[in-house]
Formats: sequence, C-alpha cells, structure tokens
Amino acid sequence: MESKSFFLFYLVLTLRYLLIAGPAFLIFYILYKQRFSRLRIQKLFPEKGDYYREIAYSFLTFVFFSLIGVVLLQPEVKGHSQLYSEISNYGWGYFILSIFLALLLHDLYFYWTHRMMHHPKLFKLFHLTHHKSTNPSPWAAFAFSPLEAIVEGSIIFVIAFLIPIHQYAILAFLLIMTLFNVYGHLGYELYPKWLVKSNLGKWLNTSTNHNMHHKYFKGNYGLYTRIWDEVFKTTHADYDKTLLQLIEKAKLKSDDTFNQTDSASLSARKRTAEKLSARP
Ligand SMILES: [Zn+2]
Ligand SMILES: [Zn+2]
Repeated sequence: MESKSFFLFYLVLTLRYLLIAGPAFLIFYILYKQRFSRLRIQKLFPEKGDYYREIAYSFLTFVFFSLIGVVLLQPEVKGHSQLYSEISNYGWGYFILSIFLALLLHDLYFYWTHRMMHHPKLFKLFHLTHHKSTNPSPWAAFAFSPLEAIVEGSIIFVIAFLIPIHQYAILAFLLIMTLFNVYGHLGYELYPKWLVKSNLGKWLNTSTNHNMHHKYFKGNYGLYTRIWDEVFKTTHADYDKTLLQLIEKAKLKSDDTFNQTDSASLSARKRTAEKLSARP
C-alpha cells in the first residue's frame, strides 16, 4: 500500500515537473529563443550539462518529496494534522482562503530556511547543488541536494499542522508553487511594465529577482513575494535598476529591434560602399 502511494506520488510529481518546465523550456530555449531574446535576463545560455544536472537532481528531489507525502498520509501523522476531506466542513470561502494562507506560510518558511541554508556551515551540505546553476533554466526549479529536498518538502507538514486544509487545496497550492518556481528559474522576465509599476507588482517576486540570487549568491531570498527581503533588508542593491532596464528593453518590439539592427547594418554597409567608391 505504501509503495503504491510512493510510486503514485513520484509519477504525479515527475509529470507535473515535465508538463510545466518542459513546455517552458521548449518555448523559450528551443522554438522561440530568438523571438524572446529581448526578455532574456542573462544573455548567455547554460551549457547542455547544466540542463542534465538540473533534471537529474529534480528527479532525485521527487524521491524525497514522495517519501514526505507517504509519511504525511500515515494514520498516526495524518490523524494529528488538520487535513480534512469534506469541503462542506469549512465551506468554499475557506477552501480558497486556505490556498492563499498556504502560499503565505510557504513564503515565510522559504525565506528563513533559504537564508539559513546560506549560512557558511550549512551552504555546502544543503544548498550548493541548487546554486550550481548560476544562470538557471526552468529545469532548475527542483534541482536540490537530498537535504535541501527534505527541507523544501517539509513545508507540507508545516501547512497541514498549522491550518485546516483540504487535500484539493493542497494540490492547488502545489500547482501554483510549481508554476511560480518554474517562472522564477525561467531565465526570462515576463512581467509587463504596468504590473511591475503597480502596487501589487512592487511586492510580487520576479524572475529577475531570483535570477540575480543565482548569479550573485547573496540577497533576494524570497519566493512568491519580496515582503521578507524588504522587511529584513536583504534585497540586492541593484535589483530595481536591473528590473527596470529589463522591462524597458522588453518594451521594444522584436520588430523594432530587427529594424534597428537592419538599419544600423544598412548604414554601415552604405558607409563602406561610399568609402570604397571614393577610392581612386
Ligand atoms: Zn540560495
Ligand atoms: Zn533557485
């Protein structure tokens, strides 16, 4: 029974990863690499070996995530948690609210566990594997060492023991988490300028923010929001400037970029032709 649920968890986690990170990789790294180049955060692309490492470690992470799922479903553990199975117990309003509460809990949990894993005594053992990606791709979303996988996966205990939560609300939370995690490691900034400038946008985390964390190793420890980085003054000093530069660049349509490139190369060709024709 337990091995059956382990393999079921493993299958679902792997499929979720492949179905979200896969299309993101296909679109941004293969099919439309050129079209989206103006949204790229770091110009260079990772090496093939980086993708393989990120995928291999993610597959290993799912072993630990599945084990955590099996432990949570043990009657002795589940019995002490606040998991519930009838939506009518708390109603639909709370069902939706519980998803947001789970995200907020995860946001705080991630910030502090992440900062702790950056402590020199813990970094190598827990977090170095994830930081091998200095220019992350969508595949890096779950590329953790076994110890970090246990830390990351344990958020599910925190949530299930702290707040009443329905199993489907957990599924919705995990889906949002994966989507956001893949966006955070996408390597491209997708937020439009109006969102970044809005009140909500100021507090929402961005792909640029997490990409800078991978590039510089310091600052920007947050996950969904930048609240904790702001409260504890750990936002990277160049964050606002970098994000603004990126969204300004993204405003140029690719056609404009091509036209500018074309006209630049055209006038360069013209000048060369003029020089050549001026020769005796
Ligand atoms: Zn880190
Ligand atoms: Zn990361």
